[in-house]
Amino acid sequence: MNKPKNQTLDPQDWESMRELGHQMIDDLIDYWKGIREEKIWRPIPEEIKQRLDDSIPETGMDPEAVYEEFKKTIFPYNKGNVHPRFFAWIQGTGTPMGTFADLLASGMNPNTTIGEHSAMYVDRQVVNWCKELMGFPSSASGILVSGGSMANITALTVARNAFGEGKIREKGLLENGQQLILYCSTETHACIQKAAEILGIGSQHVRKIPVNDAYEMRADLLQKQIEQDLELGLCPFAIVGTAGTVNTGAIDPLDDLFKISRQYNLWFHVDGAYGALAKLDPVYSDRLKAIEEADSLAFDLHKWMYVPYEVGCTLIRDAKKHRDAFANTPNYLLQESRGLSGGLDSINHYGFELSRGFKALKIWMSLKEHGREKYAQMIAQNNRQAEYLTQLVLENPQLELMAPTSMSITCFRMSPPNFSEEQIRDLNQEILVRLQEEGIASPSSTILNGKYTIRIANVNQRSQFEDMDLLVREVIRIGKEIIG
Ligand SMILES: *Cc1c(COP(=O)(O)O)cnc(C)c1O
Repeated sequence: MNKPKNQTLDPQDWESMRELGHQMIDDLIDYWKGIREEKIWRPIPEEIKQRLDDSIPETGMDPEAVYEEFKKTIFPYNKGNVHPRFFAWIQGTGTPMGTFADLLASGMNPNTTIGEHSAMYVDRQVVNWCKELMGFPSSASGILVSGGSMANITALTVARNAFGEGKIREKGLLENGQQLILYCSTETHACIQKAAEILGIGSQHVRKIPVNDAYEMRADLLQKQIEQDLELGLCPFAIVGTAGTVNTGAIDPLDDLFKISRQYNLWFHVDGAYGALAKLDPVYSDRLKAIEEADSLAFDLHKWMYVPYEVGCTLIRDAKKHRDAFANTPNYLLQESRGLSGGLDSINHYGFELSRGFKALKIWMSLKEHGREKYAQMIAQNNRQAEYLTQLVLENPQLELMAPTSMSITCFRMSPPNFSEEQIRDLNQEILVRLQEEGIASPSSTILNGKYTIRIANVNQRSQFEDMDLLVREVIRIGKEIIG
């Protein structure tokens, strides 16, 4: 048979691809360097949206032309969380080194789940560093996943499977007619309920315990609810405490929750997706100390470690329970004692995902570049910025602080005298949108006790104290313009 012509996706001209790669890096550096002077957000023109709705290209074009199209249609309409005044939701900034690490990881392209190769050891080292950061024992286990939601469901899967005789994997949930009950607060992130739904527990069996004025779970009501459920013959199995709620940064009384979990023999999970890393700020380290006692912890590195999306981490105190929840070994994944199929325990034994990228590298390179101390300073800086902003709000009679400021979340709004609740909502909604549309800053909003509020969540390694001054100034300027 005549051999067909060989084909490949590699470039025909390596030198022009090299040049193009250099150009991309140059453009990124210029982008980061000048980001403070840029508008934080711009609306996407209709024609661009249409181009981003074209059907699949049948034939290719030059790499240079592809990049030109990226620069025209995609690059200018970024979300903005790289900007120093991005405060919406809870979203990290990323760093140059983190970005380049992702480039290198993608260039090496190891599927980091099994085998004897360097990425497996970097992944293990980074998980060990995560344990050190969080005060977990070295005997604990952990896994890097795509983010906080995945980290939470991974931990809750272990909690569920460890329940009772630990036979849930084999027999399913209802073998003994037991109804598992999960406890969290009304302020708990929505991913916990979603996880409970996926895990077969059912949203109806997620008890959302009320919070106090500071939006922290009421431990007394938690205990009452557990007692009630036991009386009904239900099976409480886990408590989820939040270290930094998504609305206001509140910290549940973790010490009390831990004690209650021991009293009733329940799994104690901490959702620290946002706030666990505030352990590095001495102002918060005491209140977050109980994280070290948790059976499991979920936290994000793409939030307060500022690494590029995506990466979160699950830590499990009892490594055996962790492995027992996920490990299985089909014939096509046998491990050998030597060669490429040797090496460390497969990471797939600790989570649901099989194929995994080399997401550990961006954390490894970032921590090598800056060291733990620098991250402690950066996290503390965000917290001090929130305190500074709070002070500005309290000093200004036109503004109203809407929740106690905890960690780096500040909730406030403009509230002119004699305005109804509805008028205040309309005003602040308009202020928020104009801040974004004028490209000044990107807060987001939430509703606290039925009241609409602007919400500043700061996990931004580029923001400065002066940005808080500017934010307050602009809120008031825009507010006055609207009122007329
Ligand atoms: C962000 C967040 C989550 C979800 O994490 P993702 O990384 O967005 O999946 C869960 N819980 C809390 C408290 C969060 O702040």
